[in-house]
Amino acid sequence: MAICPKCQASMGQTAVKCEACGYDFSEPTSKRSLADTSRNVGNIFLMLGGVTAGVWSLLSGVSSIGLLLMMEFTHFAISLSLFLIAAALVVVFMRAQEDD
Ligand SMILES: [Zn+2]
Repeated sequence: MAICPKCQASMGQTAVKCEACGYDFSEPTSKRSLADTSRNVGNIFLMLGGVTAGVWSLLSGVSSIGLLLMMEFTHFAISLSLFLIAAALVVVFMRAQEDD
C-alpha cells in the first residue's frame, strides 16, 4: 500500500496519481525507496553468502588437512576442491559488495 506524500491518503501500489489530491508521484520518492530496499536486501544476501562461504571454506580447509594427515588422498582431493570453490565464492561475494 502506497501513501500520498502530499495528503497522506493511501492508494494502490501501481497508481501514479493520488486520487484524493491529484498529486503526481510517478517520479521520485517511491521508486527510489524501492530501489534502496532491494539493494539493502541484496546486500544482506551477499553478506550471508559471504559468511556461509567463509565458514564452508574454513571447514573444508580443516578437513582437507585432517584427511591429508590420515593419508585419505581421494577424500583429501574432494575436500580440497570444495575448499577452493568455497574460497572462490568468498572472493566473488566480497567483490560483489565492493561494486555497490
Ligand atoms: Zn494525495
